[in-house]
Amino acid sequence: MGANILSIALSGNPNSGKTTIFNNITGTRQKVGNWPGVTVEKKEGRIQRLGRELKIIDLPGTYSLTPFSIEEIVARNYILEEHPDVVIDIIDSSNLERSLYLATQLRELDCRVVFALNMTDLAKSRGINIDVGKLSELLDVQIVATVGNKNEGIDDLIEAAVNLAESDHSTSDRRRVKYSIDIEAAIGNLQSFLEAKADGMHAYDPRWTAIKLIEDDKVVKQRVLEATGRAGPEIVEKTDELRRHLFDRFADDPEIVMTDERYGFIAGIIKEVQTTSTRQRVDTSRNIDLVLTNRFVGFPIFILFIWIMFQLTFTFGDYPMQWIESGVGLISAGLDAVIPDSLFKDMLLNGIVAGVGSVIIFLPNILILFFCIALFEDTGYMSRAAFLMDKIMHLIGLHGKSFIPMLMGFGCNVPAILAARTLESEKDRILTILITPFMSCSARLPVYIVLAGTFFGAKAGSVIFGVYVLGIVLSILVGRLFRSSLLKGADAPFVMELPPYRIPMFKSLLIHMWDRSKMFLKKMGGVILIGSLVVWALSSFPRSIEYRVDYDSQRNGVTAAYEARIRLSEGAQRAALEAEMESAISELNRTQLAEKAEKSYMGRIGKVIAPVFAPLGIDWRGGVALVTGFFAKEIVVSTLGVLYAVGDDQSTDALKDALKDSGMTPLGALAMMAFVLLYVPCLATITTIRQEAGVKWTLFNIVFSTGLAWLVGCLIYQGGAYGRAHLT
Ligand code: GDP
Ligand code: MG
Repeated sequence: MGANILSIALSGNPNSGKTTIFNNITGTRQKVGNWPGVTVEKKEGRIQRLGRELKIIDLPGTYSLTPFSIEEIVARNYILEEHPDVVIDIIDSSNLERSLYLATQLRELDCRVVFALNMTDLAKSRGINIDVGKLSELLDVQIVATVGNKNEGIDDLIEAAVNLAESDHSTSDRRRVKYSIDIEAAIGNLQSFLEAKADGMHAYDPRWTAIKLIEDDKVVKQRVLEATGRAGPEIVEKTDELRRHLFDRFADDPEIVMTDERYGFIAGIIKEVQTTSTRQRVDTSRNIDLVLTNRFVGFPIFILFIWIMFQLTFTFGDYPMQWIESGVGLISAGLDAVIPDSLFKDMLLNGIVAGVGSVIIFLPNILILFFCIALFEDTGYMSRAAFLMDKIMHLIGLHGKSFIPMLMGFGCNVPAILAARTLESEKDRILTILITPFMSCSARLPVYIVLAGTFFGAKAGSVIFGVYVLGIVLSILVGRLFRSSLLKGADAPFVMELPPYRIPMFKSLLIHMWDRSKMFLKKMGGVILIGSLVVWALSSFPRSIEYRVDYDSQRNGVTAAYEARIRLSEGAQRAALEAEMESAISELNRTQLAEKAEKSYMGRIGKVIAPVFAPLGIDWRGGVALVTGFFAKEIVVSTLGVLYAVGDDQSTDALKDALKDSGMTPLGALAMMAFVLLYVPCLATITTIRQEAGVKWTLFNIVFSTGLAWLVGCLIYQGGAYGRAHLT
């Protein structure tokens, strides 16, 4: 016992029910991490069953084992290098043909496979009938029928896997794809060449290696070169010769011919084992698709859905937002009453509560947005949207698939960048990651609201809409620029999968929503907390400031002057005098706070960086606010609040008045909005980009986006000023 751990890997197409079955088997005993070196999620679970310890691994979902995508490479390498005792291939019975492509490739590999014929309920309801015994015989593989979401057949599946792992079932007699004579000849030829030349190449099955070499599989070629030393170049030359020969025969790349032949093999299997009752062949998904992916009707419907999504996010989200806002207010007031005045209190209230509170209020919007996105995904609509957008995305040199991360970017760039993982080609992924931050995320909205509200009044809505459009237009231009320079290359061959529509399970919607929001909260929470503390500290120190005037005595003077007059007056006159005194004192307080901010460390920093922002019509306060916005864009607003000495008056009206008085012009406000849209996304996004694309691209992104932001801001301000001077 103990030493005898059986490892069982689950493979299968995306959406075949892999994760569902993995969850059924392992329950809560899961460990979630990443595959080494790449950003594909790895799930592993250990359980005791049938007196054994079993290690279950959820491989990434793939349609094949051709090394086009990271997922495919990860899944294949795991099987090749880690030699799991058994691979369970989860087959979507309602999509047998597609599932069998991966299955036949697994069959070609030197590993032990059990098939889980999943979604049998769905197949049945579509009138698809599969002859399990026949299929099992044709491929010489054990098959267990399952219904993942009802936990049916799972115990049998584990038993079959354990039995296979412990049997001495030899894999030599397995039924494989047979290729046409010429190709089989080439395979046999190369296989014996390999066996003769490379005695060090025991790692992989020689037939498989030969097949992969003939298919010009770069990964395998590399491995062979590494493992065979001096024989390597000879093997490569032999391979090239055979490939040329085959190309002559077929007038096409051998890998294409071989793929066709595999599909032919599969078509043969399907004919043998699958019957469809024509009576029930009313394909609902197809019928829905006739409408939703129709060129004329599809677009308006899509835009309607998106519009509804944003409406829900902003209107529905508004109520809980107000509740949370007043909750934060209550906490703040409560703490204020309880804790005696001290530096600690200042930090707690003006640093932590104010800073974190300003982010927490966005939680409802984010939950709703992610719920809608989960709904799109789980019903299958998301891939239709991607399908529709395909043509437009080609303007940037990307596929429709990249549209999904970009759409999510309007919510929050962090999960959006993570969503780019689904892209097959590395270049597509990087390009998508680089342009996604131009999608204006919800955190930037408060900044626009304040600035546009102050300087554009009734036109604020249109101005904000314009900022969003600017982001989209620039993403297209920048995308094209990068595609034709830094990230040149052909897009990976790619099929737009249209999975059948499903009625989503409410529970899984909630889980999807929560998974994303949790990540957002965790990252933003940490970053915001630190950012707020830094901003607070920079604006509160040094503590002792040499004020230009003695504010205390001025205040006393004002009070004394008014009090004498108040004492002598009565009724309405008295009330008016009292109000006058109040406002005189708060004016003094404001001046003092402004001076304090100016003389704080933040003020000093501001004075230093002021020249950088001057060409954009942004004063030192705006500059500092933008710098602190690096932590999170929401902080821009709260920093402005601190610097314009709005003080305890939390309402945005006070800030608007202060901004108007500050000498900022509408053009400067526009430049600032553009800057906020374009410059470095927040720290959480930067961290995510580093994790997903590496340090090099992260630095590039920081420099490029900030440079672009400055340039565009400058163009707006200077161009606008020039235009005003010369065109009127
Ligand atoms: P994965 O991406 O391959 O891991 O697939 P999931 O496990 O996420 O499953 C995709 C969807 O199929 C989920 O909504 C599951 O509830 C559903 N599902 C899984 N197994 C079955 C099944 O046997 N029958 C039906 N009707 N649905 C299933
Ligand atoms: Mg999964």
